[in-house]
Amino acid sequence: MKTLSLPTFFPDATYASIHSLPFHDVAEKLEGIVVTTLHMQLIGITELLLKINNEGSNLDINYRSLANLRDDMVILSDSGGFQVLSLIHKHKLGKVTEEGAIFKLPDSPKKKHLLTPELSQDIQHAIGSDIRVVLDVPLMGNEDRKTTTEAMERTTRWAARAKEQYNKHTANNKGEVVSTPHSLSFSRPLLCAVVQGGNDPELRKESGAQLSAIGFDLYGFGGWPLDEKGFFNTKIAEAFVNSLPAGSITYGMGVGTPDDIAISHKIGMTIFDCVIPTRNARHGSLFVTKGNGEKAGETFDLVRIGAQRYETDLSPIDKDCDCPVCKNYTRAYLRFLQKKKNPVGYTLASLHNVWWYMNFVKSLR
Ligand SMILES: [Zn+2]
Repeated sequence: MKTLSLPTFFPDATYASIHSLPFHDVAEKLEGIVVTTLHMQLIGITELLLKINNEGSNLDINYRSLANLRDDMVILSDSGGFQVLSLIHKHKLGKVTEEGAIFKLPDSPKKKHLLTPELSQDIQHAIGSDIRVVLDVPLMGNEDRKTTTEAMERTTRWAARAKEQYNKHTANNKGEVVSTPHSLSFSRPLLCAVVQGGNDPELRKESGAQLSAIGFDLYGFGGWPLDEKGFFNTKIAEAFVNSLPAGSITYGMGVGTPDDIAISHKIGMTIFDCVIPTRNARHGSLFVTKGNGEKAGETFDLVRIGAQRYETDLSPIDKDCDCPVCKNYTRAYLRFLQKKKNPVGYTLASLHNVWWYMNFVKSLR
């Protein structure tokens, strides 16, 4: 039985590891990670697992055992749906048909990669993930109603296909799932549907109703979570939560800044993932407790470590943070490493930000 305390935050491990951060550095703090199904496939992880298992007798190596992740750490794999948005809709690298999403990627322009709802489940099964997401058709939110309705309805049809495939993979794995507003315990892989409907509250309601009629273990807040001004779309987040039966476990996909997480949690979401802590760390943007840095959000301040004012600053990044970086190093040292583009500087910054995020989410419980 695995148990998650809620709310919880999973850092993204897009290319089989958290960017610039070895798992063991942050293991004591981590409750889970998110891996990206499409990227895991493209970088050849499933191929490698197959090779290892074929070469050895009685081997059953999956991504967890290969990366030596703790048994109780939750691996959530996304479906590849977000890449439909980022690669196909935004960068026109492919198209979506009823069969699946066809990606044409810049590094192999002549090759087409077809990702179907079934194949997405097959890859997630090979990874050995604990929470599997159905392939969906996300949009940016500014499309017309007809396009949004069609994408939402296709998302429902794909979700039904994904569930059928998931059932094949987990037929011998009858476990139980117990959820409360503060915890989620489970002894079999979970399947997560993704609610679409763009910025239209009516379509969100319809999407939630269609998907919950099929029945899933949890539900993701799909699409682009920000409005046209770049602010978190609270109205649509509320429509998402309200579209589901009371007590549903909800996942704020790609949410977000500490402020966005705090608002989403208030609305009712409990599982979060985002690249922000690690991406911002590499750009020298460090999250700190309110009052310990430059004014930034409602729930946090920032130390932008590149600023001149930190050049000779011998204090820790955040005096109220208990992470190994704040316990051992100074702002001046971290700034120096980052200025010299020393990879250790990116690792230390990422370690602090992920640790800080975990403490922040815990403070919301
Ligand atoms: Zn720290």
